[in-house]
Amino acid sequence: MESQKQYPPQFSFEFFPPKTDKGVEKLKLVRDQLGALKPKYFSVTYGAGGSTQQGTFDTIMSIRQAGFDAAPHLTCVGASRQSLRELLQQYIDHDIHRIVALRGDMPSGMHTSGEFHYANELVAFIRAESGDHFHIEVAAYPEFHPQASNAQHDLDNFKRKIDVGANSAITQYFFNPDAYFRFIDDCERLGIEVPIVPGIMPITNYSNLARFSDMCGAEIPRWIRKRLEAFAGDTDSIKAFGEDVVTDLAHQLLEAGAPGLHFYSMNQAEASLAIWKNLGL
Ligand code: FAD
Repeated sequence: MESQKQYPPQFSFEFFPPKTDKGVEKLKLVRDQLGALKPKYFSVTYGAGGSTQQGTFDTIMSIRQAGFDAAPHLTCVGASRQSLRELLQQYIDHDIHRIVALRGDMPSGMHTSGEFHYANELVAFIRAESGDHFHIEVAAYPEFHPQASNAQHDLDNFKRKIDVGANSAITQYFFNPDAYFRFIDDCERLGIEVPIVPGIMPITNYSNLARFSDMCGAEIPRWIRKRLEAFAGDTDSIKAFGEDVVTDLAHQLLEAGAPGLHFYSMNQAEASLAIWKNLGL
């Protein structure tokens, strides 16, 4: 873990592109509230298959214009080389220097993965097209990707992304710090030296969290699940307990030498701000 330590640690917040004018206005407020914490960058998700391409681009531009560093996510499933080439050029033209490169999941109704199959191919493509222009982030899975044939293959596949030029990684969220610590130990054994920043999911709503965690393979430990279930519709208690649990997790991660934290903000400031304050950052 010591090899991961970074001074100062790097903090970032993730947004998704809002779908309504009201959402756009709200996100500007959230961005400014979180921006006051001076994060390294804000990232903006991208719908696999290109479904949010314009929304991602517009959100990135709005963050940039407000004076913050912005990192678009980019997925390759279903995309053509030409379409990605054009999008990369747009980002280069607008002075964007960081990209989160992902495979994505095939949207329902789309049956062919197109010219790319895995994120390592996208990383190699970005490097071939744009040299060292971009700092490339990739995804990492301390509890392993749900489609991985086994844990070792998943680690080897993660290494492929680093070997072809990724500079750092952001993890899927997790609530069990040991999963992250062991993942880092395994990466060190494989000679992976890039920063692997834990993804932090604030807990504010149980049913959404449970549904999403089942989909993406993140485990909610039984003791957390049971307590959240017991709160039923009492959102204040869910938020208070969630804040406590996630603050404790983030504290343990930073203490052990995690290089920073990436908050899945869900376009809300409150929960991330509370954790931030509790950590005394
Ligand atoms: P990969 O690294 O390609 O891995 C996918 C699976 O394939 C793994 O099981 C891996 O073991 C296996 N694999 C990888 N390479 C090979 C290979 N060469 N041969 C055989 N098997 C291989 N999704 C979105 O749609 N939009 C987003 O904006 C978005 N942002 C995300 C941000 C973060 C930080 C994270 C953690 C996830 C994000 N996702 C997003 C979800 C992500 O797209 C899914 O988890 C997707 O299923 C995998 O993407 P990946 O880039 O990790 O894929």
